[in-house]
Amino acid sequence: MLTYETKNGWTAGMDAKAAFAFAEGYKSFITTGKTERLCCRQAVALAEEKGFRALDTVDSLKPGDKVYVVNRDKGVLLAVIGSEDMEQGIRFVIAHIDSPRLDLKQNPLYEDLELAFLKTHYYGGIKKYQWTTIPLALHGVIFTAAGERVEICIGEEPGDPVFTVTDLLPHLSDEQAMKKTKDAISGEALNLLAGSLPGAGDTDCKEKVKQNILSLLHQKYGITEEDFISAELEAVPAGAARDVGMDRALVGGYGQDDRVCAYTSLSAILATEQPAKTAVCVLVDKEEIGSMGNSGMRSAFFEYALASLLQKRTGTYNELMLKTMLHNSACLSADVSAGIDPAYPDVLEKRNAAKIGHGVVLTKYTGSRGKSGTSDANAEFVYAVRKRFCDAGVIWQTGELGKVDVGGGGTIAQYVANLDVEVLDCGVPLLSMHAPFEVASKADIYAAYQGYLAFLTQA
Ligand code: MN
Ligand code: MN
Repeated sequence: MLTYETKNGWTAGMDAKAAFAFAEGYKSFITTGKTERLCCRQAVALAEEKGFRALDTVDSLKPGDKVYVVNRDKGVLLAVIGSEDMEQGIRFVIAHIDSPRLDLKQNPLYEDLELAFLKTHYYGGIKKYQWTTIPLALHGVIFTAAGERVEICIGEEPGDPVFTVTDLLPHLSDEQAMKKTKDAISGEALNLLAGSLPGAGDTDCKEKVKQNILSLLHQKYGITEEDFISAELEAVPAGAARDVGMDRALVGGYGQDDRVCAYTSLSAILATEQPAKTAVCVLVDKEEIGSMGNSGMRSAFFEYALASLLQKRTGTYNELMLKTMLHNSACLSADVSAGIDPAYPDVLEKRNAAKIGHGVVLTKYTGSRGKSGTSDANAEFVYAVRKRFCDAGVIWQTGELGKVDVGGGGTIAQYVANLDVEVLDCGVPLLSMHAPFEVASKADIYAAYQGYLAFLTQA
């Protein structure tokens, strides 16, 4: 055929039964994994079920061995050792497990007009108005003055209370309605409504509602107000991921950027047995705020974990071995792409936009304003992945993040590419990316899993 056209996966040979069954595990993963810490914990639990062991409990590695290295409870590197020398190159699939949300400030609790609130600082690129008037759950950890680690989860169980950010009634919104949507809700207005019941205790206390919240927190968790300072608490949309549509072919839920690629790449590494090249899946944190910090992709943790693998595989280590291995390695940067939305077709260029249901998306470059800030995959490597996907019967398409000069964005691909690794962005197209309720097709989710598995197990 001389012309190129993508096909709808459901009519192009996608195994619908397998895709629907796979989506059940996925929905459960994102329903439980509302934070990077919870995703990391789930990934480790699933990996241990499949025989993966913590790398620091292993003295040496041989082909077929399965190991993982956890990074500060917020990320994990999982490896299945190949039969070839690691210096001949390994295969990576890397996804991120942080998602946009509202983080509590260090001193969050206050009372105003006899209502208690928790102040937040939003994390990642959100449209602020989307985060008002929806039920929010609170997850995270608090380290108390006594040094105890307290885990918080409020708002996910059916009987739990939830939190919410209030918004103006339309009757009094004339001034707000005249503002640009990005200014309509201010960042400092993203406060979680957290209580309204005055406590019965101390009669001199001016802030009885706040006082009551503090005493409830103390009873339940043994914490004081100062303990918020050494906490990481994240407000996220409450509730479970759901099927969308009468035909149930779509998944709707929070955090699909990028847990959809995290779950599919994790499932691929868990299904990898006796590969020729060592297969590695990495789940990282902090992508949504630039991959900075020691749990992000720009952290030296990545090289530390790989150096440890090399040392345990070969019994020796030097820097040239690591650099040679990276130079010969290849990576799929597993991150979501924008699916073209019939309500807003003008922001994407239809000949190069990803379509929902047309398979996993290969994105040669991201960036903005003249490809600024992208690694722009080499044609040789795009060919290699294209060939592998075609040979393995993976349903795939291409996509780009918007029309030229309309906007743009980046992924972790550039940071991996800078380490001298071949990299291509490859992931699931979403509708409503970064919204509290994002949408993906079960066909694309399953195609991503098949694509990552084909890549990791390629001889
Ligand atoms: Mn992403
Ligand atoms: Mn994102």
